[in-house]
Amino acid sequence: MRVMDSRSQEVLAQVAEIGQSDLRWKDGRAFSLAYYAGPEVQEVADRAYAMYGSTNGLNADAFPSLKKFQAEVVSTVNRWVHGDDISAGFMTSGGTESILLAVKAARERGRKEFGITQPNVVLPTSAHAAFEKACYYFGLESRRVVVRPDWRADVEAMRQSVDENTVLVVGSAPQYPQGVIDPIVDIAALARERNINCHVDACMGGVTLTFLEQLGEDIQLWDFRVDGVTSISVDLHKYGYTSKGASVILHRNRQLRSYQTFTTDNWLGGFYGSSGVLGTKSGGPMAAAWAVMNYLGDEGYLRLTESARATTRQLADAIQTIDGLQLRAIPDSTLLSFGVQLGDDGVTPLFDVYAVADGLAAKGWYVDKQGPPDSLHCTVNAVHHQVIDEFIVDLSHAVAKVRDAGTTGSMGSYGTIE
Ligand SMILES: *Cc1c(COP(=O)(O)O)cnc(C)c1O
Repeated sequence: MRVMDSRSQEVLAQVAEIGQSDLRWKDGRAFSLAYYAGPEVQEVADRAYAMYGSTNGLNADAFPSLKKFQAEVVSTVNRWVHGDDISAGFMTSGGTESILLAVKAARERGRKEFGITQPNVVLPTSAHAAFEKACYYFGLESRRVVVRPDWRADVEAMRQSVDENTVLVVGSAPQYPQGVIDPIVDIAALARERNINCHVDACMGGVTLTFLEQLGEDIQLWDFRVDGVTSISVDLHKYGYTSKGASVILHRNRQLRSYQTFTTDNWLGGFYGSSGVLGTKSGGPMAAAWAVMNYLGDEGYLRLTESARATTRQLADAIQTIDGLQLRAIPDSTLLSFGVQLGDDGVTPLFDVYAVADGLAAKGWYVDKQGPPDSLHCTVNAVHHQVIDEFIVDLSHAVAKVRDAGTTGSMGSYGTIE
């Protein structure tokens, strides 16, 4: 390796310094936003990323390396979700892009095959905000349908909302807010009756559910084994434990996939084609995903999944024993949320759960504040095994403090626009 001159050393030291007050995700303090499978996996990802970070996935013909990384990553995920040699997909920059593309593909199919010009999407209130973004960007109506008391999609109510302009129905495995799996078999059956698309958002659960099933857990079917599922999104930059910028979108067949892609020659630059939303796109995430998936293999993912699942169970059990807390649902994978029991009026929580999050933040922990209803949310991953006992102690102390003092907290948000 080249010896660094003193100016580069200085600048890189500054870069490191600027991150000093960031979330300490490698220490397991973050129950959202970042995932960590240890220094070895991280190094594999970082080095692969650095090697390809400035290559361009816009034209994979010029970079056969990226073509290979993408093909093999997509093929592995396709195997995980029980696709076959007819199903096909692409790597994208993340769950949001995968979802944008699934919605765009459904809109396009509706337009081309059925002449639908005022398309709508029918989806449970629990489906990710990215679907809202997709409908907004691409001019579809979002028809949100209230979930059942167990937080799962209400398929009968969805059926009532579907009409001749519906191009897509959606289910999640699991949905983010409460961590439960929607009844995918029923949602997909609804899509089949109408011959429309059914997208399964497995951005969170795609990797975990695959390996939980291999570990012998009884997981309801959610992937391509379900008739009527037309596309699936699986994020690798979450439970694939690779660098940010990596997700996979798979379609049941190439015809369905063709509605996702874009080509034009209506400019002075000649033929232009792209599989996704981006033009120029870094090869770094593709190389990192390939490297981490090959480094870990299925055995690695089995081990990490088992650990994250055991930690999730431990946390869920603990929450159920802390006075005043209420687990929203028994977690189907490794996401959970909890709120506060209601007082005698049956409406007002006994204390403010957001103030509990603020108490945890004072101890260096980061959890999501979400709602409605006011809840905290934890995305448990392999890093948390080593800190969960400490977190549970801090959580019960934070709850006791808020209960005694009646403090109120502030609402949080998933992203910023400033
Ligand atoms: C994270 C997530 C998304 C969005 O993915 P990004 O990678 O944040 O763009 C969509 N759906 C679910 C269920 C998710 O957990």
